[in-house]
Amino acid sequence: MKLIIATNNQGKVREIKQMLEPLGYEPISLKDAGIEINVVEDGDTFEENAHLKAKAVYDICRCPVVADDSGLEVDFLDGAPGIYSARYAGENATDEQRIQKILDELDGVDTSMRTARFVCAMYCILDDETEYSVRGTLEGFIGEEPMGENGFGYDPIFMVDEDTSVAMLSAEEKNRISHRAAALKQLTDILSEEQGGN
Ligand code: IMP
Repeated sequence: MKLIIATNNQGKVREIKQMLEPLGYEPISLKDAGIEINVVEDGDTFEENAHLKAKAVYDICRCPVVADDSGLEVDFLDGAPGIYSARYAGENATDEQRIQKILDELDGVDTSMRTARFVCAMYCILDDETEYSVRGTLEGFIGEEPMGENGFGYDPIFMVDEDTSVAMLSAEEKNRISHRAAALKQLTDILSEEQGGN
């Protein structure tokens, strides 16, 4: 089944492709589908934003679409940056600046209070009548300094254990445990059932 991945974030496209291709799906990026779109993400939740993105692309292509909205929730910061993860530290800030902002806000905060999670809401629209919403999470905590070179976004400060940030994991390791993998697993289970039932 061909599925358009409704995101301009190449890090996400790469991860979603790596996970869907072995399952027999044909994920197509917006770029490869020739769709240029910048959706205003003004929903109040990850789910609302994922829906907005999926719907905007579906309205153009009228074909199966999957969109994700994801981000980091830090408990000490009352869930921030949350749905503002991409824009934290300002519209044109870099990953490094966003990471530094969080490290500054957690300066002096004990490890036990630095708990956090990555959240991924995925919204899939197959046709006019069929839509699915799923959510996956990855629990961890915010480290004291960036570590590792892999992944993207907040990966260098998101620790899965005392010695390991997500940016120190290989792509395969991240794709086994990530919030995006958890959401995709639920979605592919639903899609397999859907295909089996047809
Ligand atoms: P979105 O494009 O609105 O979903 O923005 C999500 C933002 O959350 C990204 O730009 C990253 O800053 C952050 N984020 C989401 N998923 C990940 C991940 O797997 N690793 C690191 N940062 C992530």
